[in-house]
Amino acid sequence: MKIARGSQLLVATGNKGKLAEFQALLAPFEVEILGLKDFGLSEPEETERSFAGNALVKARAGAKGSGLVTLADDSGLEVAALGGAPGIYTADWAEGSGGRDFTRAMRKTWGMLEVVGGATSAAFCCTLAIVEPHGAEMVVAGRCEGRIVWPMRGSTGHGYDPIFQPVGHDRTFGEMADEEKNLISHRADAFRKLVAECFT
Ligand code: IMP
Repeated sequence: MKIARGSQLLVATGNKGKLAEFQALLAPFEVEILGLKDFGLSEPEETERSFAGNALVKARAGAKGSGLVTLADDSGLEVAALGGAPGIYTADWAEGSGGRDFTRAMRKTWGMLEVVGGATSAAFCCTLAIVEPHGAEMVVAGRCEGRIVWPMRGSTGHGYDPIFQPVGHDRTFGEMADEEKNLISHRADAFRKLVAECFT
């Protein structure tokens, strides 16, 4: 699937930060990025059991509602010794009565790893789905391998960054500047694949 310069692209996220990140990454390709708000749309429920399934649900709903080629993502953390958990439930592990709390989610991850006593290997995953209104679809997946560390380290970044140390580094994502993380992250890996397929 090729996206021409000057065309419009809907990024199917209600998250302002993600929209800005997509805009920055796609700036060199001169496409006009629109958000769900531009069409009065909201993100559909994530009903599938895989990152790819959920990214496709979001991209298909956006393409149907807007009539534009639509890009959506789904991401999360897979811990090998936990059978790939939290996986598609990565954000859900942070949910509590007072809203999302990622310190709680990170404690839960480490607590469960202590219970199983397994190795700490883990990977951040990012899947991007791009869907045309007439039906063409493409999915690319990016990964960043690493391990879970405890205690939490660093305060840059978001989500589970303070307990994830990528392979070949002695600092966590939470201790890295955005520019450094963005070169090696799962999202960067997925974007490189997307650009190679659609924007060159
Ligand atoms: P979603 O892709 O919006 O469904 O969110 C998945 C969840 O994965 C987020 O809420 C974050 O907690 C977590 N996550 C995804 N990417 C990262 C990352 O780069 N650092 C830390 N946490 C992440």
